[in-house]
Amino acid sequence: MALEGEFTVTNVGAGNRIDSNTLLFGVIGNPIRHSKSPVMMNRAFRETGINGVYAAFHVTGDRIADFAAGVRAMGIQGVNVTIPHKLDIMSVLDEIDPGARAIGAVNTIVNDAGRLIGYNTDGIGYVRSLKEEAEHELAGKQIVVIGAGGAARGIVYALANEKPARITIANRSVDRAKELAASFQDLAEIEAISNDELQVACRKADIVINTTSVGMFPNTDETPVDADWLKPGAVASDLIYNPLKTKFLQQAEQRGCRIHGGLGMFIYQGAYAFEYWTGQPAPAAAMRETVLAALLS
Ligand code: NAP
Repeated sequence: MALEGEFTVTNVGAGNRIDSNTLLFGVIGNPIRHSKSPVMMNRAFRETGINGVYAAFHVTGDRIADFAAGVRAMGIQGVNVTIPHKLDIMSVLDEIDPGARAIGAVNTIVNDAGRLIGYNTDGIGYVRSLKEEAEHELAGKQIVVIGAGGAARGIVYALANEKPARITIANRSVDRAKELAASFQDLAEIEAISNDELQVACRKADIVINTTSVGMFPNTDETPVDADWLKPGAVASDLIYNPLKTKFLQQAEQRGCRIHGGLGMFIYQGAYAFEYWTGQPAPAAAMRETVLAALLS
């Protein structure tokens, strides 16, 4: 992609050497100091020998245009975007990938010789993780998605491109589920239901995905759905990775389901960003090892 030509003899093989050829990358958000992206991405640069460095930038909403000007002026090569800027950032970019446009959010910016191009790697990162870690074939599957927030939008878009039999979206605010289902109606069979209809949907599902924040630290005793509703052997998947195994996943495991946690989504959204920036395969196993160590420290 954009930067392949940039990795010359002067900046390949150095791996975080930091000299006058070092390429700059980073993540913006507010807050940002909790982010595990810097440790993950710097490990990726070290592992691949690319002379790049990745930092976290605390950017407030009123400085988004200044931020974009700074990226262009300083030649920052790539940036991840996290909460709360994934929507607002779109107004200051030169181009937006059709997938990110359909999802309505950007989490990755590629600086292609001064042109800032926005992508969304959250949904495709999640699907890559699901396929590699839990269920390699999504075609023909009955999938239930609980939640209809920002993360669910990227995931439903990416799942819809995998030819599932049906995607059923359940959300506390059912209107939001309906709106999400309508957005991608032309890509796959997608329906919206209320949480009252969740039990029936879960009984038929091959994969049940929690995209809500229910069960996230510190509310680790909460669960979005009764795991007894799931078919034994079905996949229970949770976007949450703090804790690594939520109550939903613990109960689903006891029920005989295959479980899939949220860490892989985080790793692979970063892996796709790395690949868009460098044109090289991301060292996903090393990235995961580093993030796990940071989470457990
Ligand atoms: P969001 O846009 O704020 O959406 C939150 C969703 O959770 C909405 O559907 C909301 O329902 C639902 N919800 C919140 N509290 C609830 C409750 N008490 N009962 C029932 N439903 C509730 O958030 P998001 O950005 O989509 O993030 C959602 C989760 O995904 C978070 O836990 C986040 O950490 C995780 N995530 C993980 C990754 C990763 O890399 N693994 C990446 C992104 C997000 P309403 O619409 O009714 O309010």
